[in-house]
Amino acid sequence: MTRRVPAPEPAPSGRVRLVVANWKMHLTHLETIAYLQQLWHLLEPDDYRRAEIVICPPFTALRSAQLTIDTDAMSFRLGAQDVYWEPEGAFTGEVSVPMLAKLDVSYVIVGHSERRRLFGESDEVVARKASAVLGGGLAPIVCVGETSDERASGDTGAVLARQLDAVLEQAPARELDRMVIAYEPVWAIGSGTPANPEDAEDAAAQLRRRLAESAGDAVAARVRILYGGSVDVGNAASFLGQVDVDGLLVGGASLDPQRFAQLVGAQAPSPS
Ligand code: PEP
Repeated sequence: MTRRVPAPEPAPSGRVRLVVANWKMHLTHLETIAYLQQLWHLLEPDDYRRAEIVICPPFTALRSAQLTIDTDAMSFRLGAQDVYWEPEGAFTGEVSVPMLAKLDVSYVIVGHSERRRLFGESDEVVARKASAVLGGGLAPIVCVGETSDERASGDTGAVLARQLDAVLEQAPARELDRMVIAYEPVWAIGSGTPANPEDAEDAAAQLRRRLAESAGDAVAARVRILYGGSVDVGNAASFLGQVDVDGLLVGGASLDPQRFAQLVGAQAPSPS
């Protein structure tokens, strides 16, 4: 019999929280099937009510994830870790938005700091990807964040503004509500040293103010802003307790279904 769980409900902010697992280059398609089955049974019904849960496996596992989710009517959304902005063509090695849409992918991470740093993605490239994702009816999770040197020189605010503005200049205004922003200080990713929750709130509030200035208050009130960078079971609730932080982008702690289930369960109090 199909297991039924509650639909996610809005937090007091009016926005539905989002907890996103970014597996990076980990887990095969077979491991993905086993992971999803375990996670589905480990989570409590209340966990599904508190947040939308998004799994971002590597491209090679998306089809298996889609079928597994579909077969058991699991309440997980699928995300991809990257995309190319053209819909099709001679772009060896790339994957397009329509290809992801056919796999029931709802979210696409763009501009992760690993892509910016290791693969040379500029603000312009990230903006093109975000616009293509929005134009194709999916939701980009746009990653922004400062390096430790930028933080030390007091440039955090300027870096966040520059990275966000590049996306806002190109993105189709009518679709902007669907965009998700992830504040991910580069020095916190995979380091075991998260930002402190008050600093994450300051950054999220700054991003929301910037959104309001460029896209209006209604858009700023709807866009969800996540925190990412060494999130784990012990600190997840402290980030979710911040007014402008609407969820989490989780790398290392999402790779084991037990650990991820505990993290999801460690959220801020349920809305009702
Ligand atoms: C990430 O990859 O976006 C991330 C936040 O990783 P970690 O949780 O491992 O720091």
